[in-house]
Amino acid sequence: MRSYSLIAPGKINLYLEIIGDRPDGYHQLVMILQSIELADKIELRPNGTDSIRVYCNNPQVPSDETNLAYKAAKLMQQQFPEIAANYGGIDITIDKQIPVAAGLAGGSTDGAAVLVGIDLMWDLGLTKPELETLAAQLGSDIPFCVRGGTAIATGRGEILESIQNLDDIWVVLAKYRNLSVSTGWAYQTYRQKFEDDYIKEENEFQNRHQEIHSGPLVKAIIDQNHQKIGNLLYNDLEKVVLPEHPQVNELRSALINTGGLGTMMSGSGPTVFCLCESKAQAEEIKHKVQDLMANPELDFWITKLSSNGIQVAESS
Ligand code: ATP
Repeated sequence: MRSYSLIAPGKINLYLEIIGDRPDGYHQLVMILQSIELADKIELRPNGTDSIRVYCNNPQVPSDETNLAYKAAKLMQQQFPEIAANYGGIDITIDKQIPVAAGLAGGSTDGAAVLVGIDLMWDLGLTKPELETLAAQLGSDIPFCVRGGTAIATGRGEILESIQNLDDIWVVLAKYRNLSVSTGWAYQTYRQKFEDDYIKEENEFQNRHQEIHSGPLVKAIIDQNHQKIGNLLYNDLEKVVLPEHPQVNELRSALINTGGLGTMMSGSGPTVFCLCESKAQAEEIKHKVQDLMANPELDFWITKLSSNGIQVAESS
């Protein structure tokens, strides 16, 4: 049996609107999700035992059954028990490059990579839609991580419609090293504060989806109008995360004042991203904000938007 090495890109949210509640406890969302080149590397190897074992170079990441990569392998064993018994256990090694609990879907993309990798390892021949359906059982962002590119996501984030790829834009990511935000906390706090404004009727959900679909941000993406995209970034979760973490708000303001196409918090944060026209502009903004904030706890990454989901790096 072969071993596989996979590239698992992170994502940012160009748009995140919370429109209502769902009977399953999640929220009804309309998002525009975008892959970035900053990626984890995942290696899958048959280990000659019955066990799934997870190894990661970042001690913040659990290596037990709560790791999304472990959960993905377990799901594949449950879905294909005879094939799984035939092939035996797997060692999953995560080279973590995406910051953890940062709103960049780092765990979700590792889970997506394991689904794609096991499909290849066990020669299952699953289609992309079949992989995305399995991914939706693991987590709301995981179908997007399998697919990648630029997509409108609705439902709890698992219903995807790909749109024009955006890959010619650079990104500065900035995050305080020891600050993380729980996605669950961000959504629950949002519910407590804004529940009264939620849309209640199913047909109104559809109308809102349609408005975003034919709205100015999607048009700017289709037209590849970078400045308009930067002006139209939006994230409802800023309303709860920024008041709770004033230093993220200050970082956001510093990035806005330094230029770039547009700045926004990604997902539930606390990473703030700034879209840039060129690598040179991204470097300049990073250095200016680094000097301005003068905080050794503040980390930066320079990356690019990407049109890729999970990719096979090598097999042996
Ligand atoms: P999302 O944007 O999908 O909500 P996130 O990017 O904010 O996620 P993650 O990096 O996925 O956050 O981490 C959230 C928590 O998930 C971590 O604190 C960690 O305990 C747990 N976790 C489980 N599996 C992983 C993994 N493979 N990589 C990182 N974190 C993981």
